[in-house]
Amino acid sequence: MIAVVKQEATNDQLQGFIAWIENRGFKTHVSQGDNETIVGIIGDTTQIDPFLLESMSIIERVQRVSEPFKKANRKFHPEDTVVDCGHGVLIGGGNFQVMAGPCSVEGKNLIRIARLAKEAGATMLRGGAYKPRTSPYAFQGMGEEGLDLLLEARAELDMPIVSEVMDPRDVQLFVDKGINVMQIGARNAQNFNLLKEVGKTNTPILLKRGLSGTIDELLMAAEYIMSEGNTQVILCERGIRTFETRTRNTFDLNAIPVLKHLSHLPVVGDPSHATGYTRYVRSAAYAATAAGADGLEIEVHDCPSEAWSDGAQALTPEQFADAMRRIKLIREAITADLSERD
Ligand code: PEP
Ligand code: MN
Repeated sequence: MIAVVKQEATNDQLQGFIAWIENRGFKTHVSQGDNETIVGIIGDTTQIDPFLLESMSIIERVQRVSEPFKKANRKFHPEDTVVDCGHGVLIGGGNFQVMAGPCSVEGKNLIRIARLAKEAGATMLRGGAYKPRTSPYAFQGMGEEGLDLLLEARAELDMPIVSEVMDPRDVQLFVDKGINVMQIGARNAQNFNLLKEVGKTNTPILLKRGLSGTIDELLMAAEYIMSEGNTQVILCERGIRTFETRTRNTFDLNAIPVLKHLSHLPVVGDPSHATGYTRYVRSAAYAATAAGADGLEIEVHDCPSEAWSDGAQALTPEQFADAMRRIKLIREAITADLSERD
């Protein structure tokens, strides 16, 4: 971290600042230029609040040199992390996976949808048993019964299951039931107690970006999980809030290459929540694939008009099957070795 000291600061003030920093266990390196004096602060500067330094009268500005996320940072872990989701399904490091299924687990139709999704090429089954709904009067999910339906589908189809956990008190239940991947939803992306709780498990985590979360906030949320010991984190771009109202959210496609540059964790795109309308989901899925995502999470329902949540953005199994064929071609195009070509 570097602190730029104002030109008008006296030497006494500068020495006072240096003493303040060093008293906290950091080393300093002062570089006196013609126009400004820069104090380099050496040590674990994640412990320093840059805003506090900037509030000091002699400080012009403060800049971090290294990012505050360490465990999620590619600088300290250059190779891609490969997350083992169970049932032979790996994601990251060149392994591309598609999680598909209804927004909510609604009952016996789950197995029907799951069979069709698998047939079309889905490699993981998603379904929410605990649903974060904007209205307390909307369907809140089937709870434990919903998890059991996912387990039944998994037993028949031999594919890992992904489901959202909303409450730290439910984490142990998910672990006891052997849910393969716990999803942290956008609304809980900064629920630090929940992040710490899932961080104490060995279960892979699908971590969604917050509704208005920055890329750095997403990485710091991953850091919360990883700092507790769980390094099996998959990042998910699911659209963010902007001024645009034509779609449910604005799909931040940039986030995919940016996250892959900054972090070694696998990155997936969720074109369903990113757009909110079935008619746009496939385009967004293709774009995320082309942007280099390690996978996709797509909502699929065999009768979207009867879905208990998010029917407006569900693909039918036929639409999903068509999308999967094209996604496969896009993957082939972007991973092709062109070195032999003219
Ligand atoms: C979901 O996956 O159904 C969901 C609620 O997603 P998000 O947290 O991204 O809104
Ligand atoms: Mn949904």
